[in-house]
Amino acid sequence: PGAIAFNNVHFAYDPERPILKGVSFEVPAGKTVAIVGPSGAGKSTISRLLYRFYDVQQGSVTIDGQDVREVTQQSLRSVIGMVPQDTVLFNDTIAYNIRYGRPAASAEEVKAAADIAQIGTFITHLPEGFETKVGERGLKLSGGEKQRVAIARTVLKGPPILILDEATSALDTTTEHEIQSALDIVSKNRTTLVIAHRLSTVINADEIIVLRAGEIAERGTHTALIEQG
Ligand code: ADP
Ligand code: ADP
Repeated sequence: PGAIAFNNVHFAYDPERPILKGVSFEVPAGKTVAIVGPSGAGKSTISRLLYRFYDVQQGSVTIDGQDVREVTQQSLRSVIGMVPQDTVLFNDTIAYNIRYGRPAASAEEVKAAADIAQIGTFITHLPEGFETKVGERGLKLSGGEKQRVAIARTVLKGPPILILDEATSALDTTTEHEIQSALDIVSKNRTTLVIAHRLSTVINADEIIVLRAGEIAERGTHTALIEQG
């Protein structure tokens, strides 16, 4: 489940300035489609329309053929997991941060999710700079470790659809590769929409869509796009 379709989508934050100008594409269930393109092209806007932070003004966005406007926010959020560029953590343990929003999750489930994200060994630690209740200094988390917390949250949630919005963009190259392999595991068998600004980071996508100024400029596999130049 979880096939996504954008059908001739038009969107503008300001009516004078169209951002998406008739964008159509599909992400078949279980596949990965990457949207790449320069900053300001409208890539993140696409993820916001899927998550329904905003509504399309013309055209439609559907999940399994159903218009997202006909789905409740609650059920939309239950089927979509999002790993954003920067993950904001609460002043509490890593385990608390992973479990956030899913109070029913057991300690074992939290630990299993943390293990997949490779932060299982320090889930009782605190995020960067935070003080424990007894005044003990918290563990400093790097950008990569924070992304691992976001990945563990998503694993615990287990949604059929995943949005990775510049999830590795803020990381150095080595960390980016490490986080990318964790993301590859999590996106396997999920319908995944990847937002990225560089073609080199989305080599494994089933299809890559190049967005320029709100329009699809090119599309194809990584190999095909490289051959075209
Ligand atoms: P990208 O992800 O490709 O960098 P975005 O989808 O974030 O692009 O933004 C596309 C354009 O829409 C940009 O020019 C940006 O300044 C503008 N924009 C983004 N969010 C808003 C907003 N909330 N209100 C007004 N303009 C916005
Ligand atoms: P849940 O995981 O319980 O469904 P939410 O639906 O509130 O939680 O958020 C899902 C993901 O979307 C979270 O990882 C969160 O960081 C991200 N998110 C929530 N609100 C926003 C927002 N306004 N802008 C960008 N990302 C957001």
